[in-house]
Amino acid sequence: MDYLPIFANVRNKLCLVVGGGDVATRKAGVLLEAGAKVRVVAPEIAPALAAQQGVDSVIARFEAKHLEGATLVIAATNDRSVNQQVSELAQARNIPVNVVDDPELCSFIMPAILDRSPLMVAFSSGGASPVLTRLMRGKLETIIPQNYSRLAAFAERFRELVKTRVTNPAKRRIFWENALEGVIAEKVLTGDESSAEAMLQNMLASEDNIQRGEVYLVGAGPGDPDLLTFRALRLMQKADVVVYDNLVSKPIVEMTRRDAQRIFVGKRRDDHTLRQEEINELLVRLAKEGKRVLRLKGGDPFIFGRGGEEIETLAAENIPFQVVPGITAASGVASYAGIPLTHRDYAQACMFVTGHLKDGTMNLDWDALARPKQTVVVYMGLHGLDTLCAKLIEHGMPDTTPIAIVQQGTTPNQRVITGTLATLPGIAEREQPQAPTLIIVGGVVTLREKLAWFHPQKS
Ligand code: SAH
Repeated sequence: MDYLPIFANVRNKLCLVVGGGDVATRKAGVLLEAGAKVRVVAPEIAPALAAQQGVDSVIARFEAKHLEGATLVIAATNDRSVNQQVSELAQARNIPVNVVDDPELCSFIMPAILDRSPLMVAFSSGGASPVLTRLMRGKLETIIPQNYSRLAAFAERFRELVKTRVTNPAKRRIFWENALEGVIAEKVLTGDESSAEAMLQNMLASEDNIQRGEVYLVGAGPGDPDLLTFRALRLMQKADVVVYDNLVSKPIVEMTRRDAQRIFVGKRRDDHTLRQEEINELLVRLAKEGKRVLRLKGGDPFIFGRGGEEIETLAAENIPFQVVPGITAASGVASYAGIPLTHRDYAQACMFVTGHLKDGTMNLDWDALARPKQTVVVYMGLHGLDTLCAKLIEHGMPDTTPIAIVQQGTTPNQRVITGTLATLPGIAEREQPQAPTLIIVGGVVTLREKLAWFHPQKS
């Protein structure tokens, strides 16, 4: 470590800025934001700088006497000899000094900052690479949402109350960890502070509530990790336990917190490692142990994901949970395959149906599906492909209607097989597409030849 990072309290303290140009204006601005009184010394001072409230302008060449009473000094002139003089005189008096873009003359350096006041992130490469520092700042911008300010202010508001109610420091730490990483924080971040406050008060009501776990039902999208939402990623990185099935792609499972326990609950077709009821019970049990449980589901949890059933059990058991939407297979897969689900010339409506066979048959509203000018997306339909095509033809859809099977869409194994209602069953028999597969029926399928070219994942 080349520098010691500290945060200086300059509120109502006098800080000296030597220089009167743009750079000096910026530096004075930061000092003013931190509540300092700023003395600016330069033969010429930009009017915008001189006019700022809290600035005392001294039109003069810098002299030692200007250092008097200063807590901190920044030299921002374009004359190195002046900067050097400021640095030497300040250091002789033990006043911290920064010379802009001249680390050798500095006794402290100014970090790049990410301001989520009262939360503040400061970082620096110690002058090694300002560009890298800027890139890092950009990354942090996306990880630390704007409204973290709100979260920090919320925590500050309840700090004293929590201190008096939860007197045991270890318990208090757990309390705050739960509050700031759990549903309460998510409520604050989405702007619903009154619910957050009610939950916090509820947690404070009994010490028993403090170790309560919670469940995040998160949609992981169709496979490509780039299609995760920021919220999904955030929750994936704070869960203690991850409960996932085989629709969740491996690279996504790898992105969950490294030391989290991972539980595979299977669910290949007709081979359920755990039955749905057992999964529901597992979630409840883990949450009751006080764990933060991530229930990771392929696509969107509320689209053929039985998400509704899982949260019903949680609600009945009074376990806090939240649901995070994901990109559903229809949307992700169609887009990566170059098939728009609606198009003014081909389809004004789009239907999502399940082709899961029950007792060997598919119980669907065939008349509704066979209507013209719409797109039908069939989830879990490969095994019923023959029935699907035959029924659609039987109910009036032309047997020349285009249809596609997309295998493992959005992943490196994506493959698109196209044909018509008449030909596709035979083609699929030869091609043997691998699960998961999505079936798309309708005129939009023909657009793929034009549009797939423009997609980076051309297949
Ligand atoms: N909740 C999920 C769907 C679960 S049902 C979602 O919103 O996407 C499982 C079915 O989804 C699979 O049988 C398949 O039809 C479809 N599916 C999911 N991911 C897929 C992918 N990457 N490529 C093709 N189909 C996919």
